[in-house]
Amino acid sequence: MVTGLKSIEVLQDDAVALRRKFHQTPETGFTEFITTYEIYTILKDTDFKLHLGTEVLSPNHRYGVPDEEIIEASRKRAVSYGVPDDFLDLLEGGNTGLVAVLDTGRPGPHIAMRSDIDALPILESEGASHKPSAEGFRSVHENEMHACGHDGHIAIGLAVAKYIHQNASQLTGRFTLIFQPAEEGGRGARSVVEKGWLDDVDYFMSGHLGIHEATAGTVSATTERFLASTKLDVSFNGKSAHSGVEPNAGRNALLAAASASLHLHAIPRHREGATRVNVGTMNAGSGWNVVADHAEIKMETRGETNALNEYMLSEVERILQASALMHGTDYETKFMGTAIGAACDSKWQTLVREANHANPDVVMIRDVLPLDASEDVTYMIDHVQKRGGLATFMIFASPLAAGHHHPAFDFDEAAIRTAVSVYINNINHIAGGVLHESDD
Ligand SMILES: [Zn+2]
Ligand SMILES: [Zn+2]
Repeated sequence: MVTGLKSIEVLQDDAVALRRKFHQTPETGFTEFITTYEIYTILKDTDFKLHLGTEVLSPNHRYGVPDEEIIEASRKRAVSYGVPDDFLDLLEGGNTGLVAVLDTGRPGPHIAMRSDIDALPILESEGASHKPSAEGFRSVHENEMHACGHDGHIAIGLAVAKYIHQNASQLTGRFTLIFQPAEEGGRGARSVVEKGWLDDVDYFMSGHLGIHEATAGTVSATTERFLASTKLDVSFNGKSAHSGVEPNAGRNALLAAASASLHLHAIPRHREGATRVNVGTMNAGSGWNVVADHAEIKMETRGETNALNEYMLSEVERILQASALMHGTDYETKFMGTAIGAACDSKWQTLVREANHANPDVVMIRDVLPLDASEDVTYMIDHVQKRGGLATFMIFASPLAAGHHHPAFDFDEAAIRTAVSVYINNINHIAGGVLHESDD
């Protein structure tokens, strides 16, 4: 198992440098044109077969795809960055992301790894104590930021790809590396699953940097308490009127949205487990003296199980209806994203421990960490398990400068080094058949 450790250090250095590069050009879900091109550029000279566009995902199973103008503006930005037009044509309509497949030609397990690649609509901190700013790798995209660590996930995925490429002659079976767009909001994973990439996977692994605030090197082999979640855009349509001359002729969409927001947050909790609701944005109206004829809220529900999330959604529906009725408006609900509940396979706990007992980058291994958040990786975990495969979502802990999705979010890059070596050791443990033989 010691074979290849020297090259792992080089790959770890590469991964940290790549994380800083990707950090500078963050792109939100389904606009990851530069990101996909950079991943492609790094992998195109390896033995991996690369897939792009509608080969990667099923366009009709994407959720919350941005408006055409937003996709077009991001594409233009990618052109000015130097991404060739014919490459961008392959990603037409915001079908971003990449799948890389390598078959060693020897019988063995099919291992899949998923790295999410999207960023968030956040203006990154310029503060002197914010390391990306102080050390010159802050986002160059206004109002977009890698504030969840997916820049690190891309870099880790690429380091693992390079390892597999360099050591393919010592490995068995098949590898599928998924660089998934639009994780934030739960919008991309299902479209990758629908394309069949996980149909015959024996071992599935993914993971997240941060989440658990502990010394880098602390690894959770599995995760529990994924919250099922649904993101909704709700618009209320009323009737405008002069608020002085004939307020009685109006139908106030602003008040409908406001009533709905207050009562949504008052949905009773459920005895069977954790639930959440959040109205995150509200936009309404047009002027001082106009009865607002339009209002929109962006909201989400979560539940510890799919059933608890369904409970929240049925309550939401009733409250939206009642609020609209109260103010005489119509309303319309648009489904923007979703994640389901799932559980990792506990067999991964033994596997990660056995594979990493001598890993110098690992300080401590926990069997399981409660996530209490949502991740659309659950679609992948669920699909793999239904077909008899084993799936995990690992957590690579790190102290955090500020929490996930905060403008000053940052993590200890040592966690990247840990993740790279844990993934590689897992792979050697599962698919290092040739390597084990030569050890004898
Ligand atoms: Zn996030
Ligand atoms: Zn994330």
